[in-house]
Amino acid sequence: MRIRYWKNTEEILTSSQSVVHEPEQMKGRWLTQQEGASLLAAEIGCGKGKFICDMAKAHPDTLFVGVEYVPTVLARAARKVRLLSEGPEPENIDAASRIRLIRADAIDLTKFFAEGEVDHLYLNFSDPWPKAKHAKRRLTCWNFLPVYAAVLKPDGDLSFKTDNDGLFAFSIESFRANGWKILEMTEDLHHSEYKEGNITTEYEENFLMNQKPIHYLRAVPVRESPAKA
Ligand code: SAH
Repeated sequence: MRIRYWKNTEEILTSSQSVVHEPEQMKGRWLTQQEGASLLAAEIGCGKGKFICDMAKAHPDTLFVGVEYVPTVLARAARKVRLLSEGPEPENIDAASRIRLIRADAIDLTKFFAEGEVDHLYLNFSDPWPKAKHAKRRLTCWNFLPVYAAVLKPDGDLSFKTDNDGLFAFSIESFRANGWKILEMTEDLHHSEYKEGNITTEYEENFLMNQKPIHYLRAVPVRESPAKA
């Protein structure tokens, strides 16, 4: 059973139009290869892909790249994009054509995005890694923030959503300590001024059903005086 599951995963990943197998080749060229899109966005840890699919429908000017390191999960996202591409609605077919999926670790982002190439980064419901000894795996820790700053455009930004109080508090500290400026922040996104235009993720839908407040922030790297926040 397990073997068949893996075989299916490999089959889906190799046959899906949306999966980019050699993302290094796309470095610095994501938008030149995409007619109609003028902005580049990436979700780090895209899970099963609901967010990027719905974002692609809502933002016809943007190419969305989903980065995910668990192959079985990425295969679920690939299947979702394929369903979208099979129509019948032309908007859905267009949205699917602006989605790419990469099987990779967030720490390697600079291998497939050039410096200043990305307009928007999204971190949604990243694993909290609550134990202190695992802090370096949190996607908002000192290891990852310089990588995001490197690939973001000078006026690019990063949006972060989580239900997890500990990860949110840690992340606020981490962004500030690593020279980022927080432009928007709320403990309860769905009862805040930032709710409009918010696109929910799979995890978010679950937490909302259980009435869990969603924490949100939007931050930008400060280039002139890093690490002085
Ligand atoms: N964004 C989705 C999934 C959240 S779960 C949603 O909101 O519904 C977090 C996801 O991030 C998992 O699928 C996990 O495999 C992925 N992930 C965690 N660390 C990662 C890393 N370093 N690189 C790439 N993906 C990562």
